[in-house]
Amino acid sequence: MLDKNIISVKGVGKKYSEIFAQNGIHTIEDLIMYFPRGYDFINSSSVKSVFEGIVTEVLRDVSVRKNLVITTIKLRNDSGRNAKLIYFNKPYMKHSFILGNRYKVYGTFKETKNYVEILNGEKIKDFASEIVPKYKTIKGIGSTYLISVMNTVINEINLEENLPREIIERRSLLSLNDAVINIHFPKDKASLEEAINRFKYQELMYFFVKTRLLKNKLNRKEKGIKYKIFTQELIDLKESLDFSLTGDQNKAIKQILIEQKTEDSINRLLQGDVGSGKTIVAFITIFNVLLNGYKACMIVPTEILAVQHYNEALKLFEKFNIKVRLLVGSVKDKEKKSIKEELKGEEPILLIGTHAVLEDDVEIYKLGYIVFDEQHRFGVSQRSKLIHKGKGENCDVLVMTATPIPRTLFLYIYNDMDISSIKELPSNRKKVETIHVKSEDKDSIYEILKKEIDKGGQCYMVCPLIEENEKLDLTSVESLYEELKSSPLSHYKIDILHGKMDNKTKNEVMDKFKNGDVDILISTTVIEVGISVANATVMVIQNAERFGLSQIHQLRGRIGRGSKEGTCVLVTNSMNSVTRKRISTLLSSNDGFYLAEQDLKIRGSGDVFGYKQHGDTGFVFADIINDIDILRKVREDIDYIDSLNTTEIQEFYINVQRKLDTIDKTICFN
Ligand code: ADP
Ligand code: MG
Repeated sequence: MLDKNIISVKGVGKKYSEIFAQNGIHTIEDLIMYFPRGYDFINSSSVKSVFEGIVTEVLRDVSVRKNLVITTIKLRNDSGRNAKLIYFNKPYMKHSFILGNRYKVYGTFKETKNYVEILNGEKIKDFASEIVPKYKTIKGIGSTYLISVMNTVINEINLEENLPREIIERRSLLSLNDAVINIHFPKDKASLEEAINRFKYQELMYFFVKTRLLKNKLNRKEKGIKYKIFTQELIDLKESLDFSLTGDQNKAIKQILIEQKTEDSINRLLQGDVGSGKTIVAFITIFNVLLNGYKACMIVPTEILAVQHYNEALKLFEKFNIKVRLLVGSVKDKEKKSIKEELKGEEPILLIGTHAVLEDDVEIYKLGYIVFDEQHRFGVSQRSKLIHKGKGENCDVLVMTATPIPRTLFLYIYNDMDISSIKELPSNRKKVETIHVKSEDKDSIYEILKKEIDKGGQCYMVCPLIEENEKLDLTSVESLYEELKSSPLSHYKIDILHGKMDNKTKNEVMDKFKNGDVDILISTTVIEVGISVANATVMVIQNAERFGLSQIHQLRGRIGRGSKEGTCVLVTNSMNSVTRKRISTLLSSNDGFYLAEQDLKIRGSGDVFGYKQHGDTGFVFADIINDIDILRKVREDIDYIDSLNTTEIQEFYINVQRKLDTIDKTICFN
């Protein structure tokens, strides 16, 4: 029944089925997965859209034109107000209202002088409930019509359970069928909650099973790549650096190399605060993979960062005769084509790129190692997509992040990954002093910038907006540029950088900044991720109240990277108690981990994981922070069903496996 075309539903003709189809609803399954976005609790205070009265008249049907019959019923309520119920092409409606009887009707109201007009009103008793679902509107389909179609379908569904029976019983969860019924037409608030709870459980369960399956896939021993360790070459590479590695960096490198030596494939997270030097750990371990004749791929979230890593890699590997290639959107087509050809070949190559690398026509022969930089920007599905590029052999995966996720939470989510941490910063890392300045106090800001530039330093100024916006009292990149042009700083070299510029221009500006041809770079947070310019010493953050703590910490991690100390200036114009608290937290702590936790307390999980990530995991109902209790149960249950190892459980896993590709569809709606 589920895969039947929607046209088979009573009351859905060709016209409506086409509109449904245009909105992605082709089958009955699609329709029932079109979950409400909210509900009208019509018993409560929102009684505006309900009319209760006695039927005073049932008018004769009127044929307005071919294919359009209008049926009208009149009601009067206790205070004498009249309503006209109007139905299009539903002549049968006149039989469901009996003259003199009292009805409660819900629908779209239009107030006229003499009447309340109610289009396609529904009798409330039709829902056996006073909770009415609210769906995301579909153009061309009225909400009452949608509700009635949904009602027809829901009354007939008989869905197969998609969680193991043991789990349903153990946790007293609603069956899938009841949960779907209740999510559309809940009898009361309690049954709605039960339904939501069941879907939360389901999402989290699928998420964990999915990661587990992915991990099993990665870790099938016979398929892992066993690398030789090129000790001397690795030592040569390390010695070519103009700094010595920190203890934690060496430890992380060692952990990865040990794993490279074994048959097991690597699935490791490298966690380290901004500036802790994760990139070099990646490069050194990549080097060994390349020496073994395999290819490696480093994926980063922005083009600027890709270019930066590319240049670093070129410099680092120059003496070692290693091919490094850059694959990003702005690379010319001809060059892209030739890189893609090379990737199909035998030669070891380090490929650095953005999501452009994920495109289907990029085939990488002998891909042995993938490194994701700043991994929180990538969703789960993007990751698995890339891993599948390896084809044949299981490649190793290293994800690097500077946004530490609070420990407890982290363990729940990445339960299947090994972790390396870089806690100590390179000893030459210079202190960054953070200060707070009110936006009126422009002179002090100018003074700080002037002093630094005259000493030979360079400055970033970060704004929350690109262009002026009348509705928001925030500093924009463009307005700040204008301001500085007519300020005591006007004689300095000032340039701008933001996301609306094309990639080529962005790279040019960044190059100029790196070469010291720009003194003050005004930008949006495009510079937040990973950018490294050793000579930059000042970071001014405009409207600092608008940014998250972790984000500001990332931003100030951009300075103090060279031999000079840095200053981070937090500029605010509003100072409510929350802002004050946040600013003082930033002034007093330089611990990215602590700040991430504070952030979480203030802002909730969505921002930390990034909206995209949320979508990619397919969580619609579940919230990793607030549903930690369910999360805990799910983890327990997975161990429990694993221990049962019945055929039913095996089938469940096979089922999930099969659904992996469509999982987002089955648990993501609207
Ligand atoms: P992050 O961990 O934030 O990605 P990077 O890898 O970009 O940090 O490193 C920041 C800067 O520190 C780079 O310029 C890098 O060359 C340098 N660096 C890395 N390790 C060390 C070290 N042990 N000593 C000195 N400088 C280092
Ligand atoms: Mg980095």
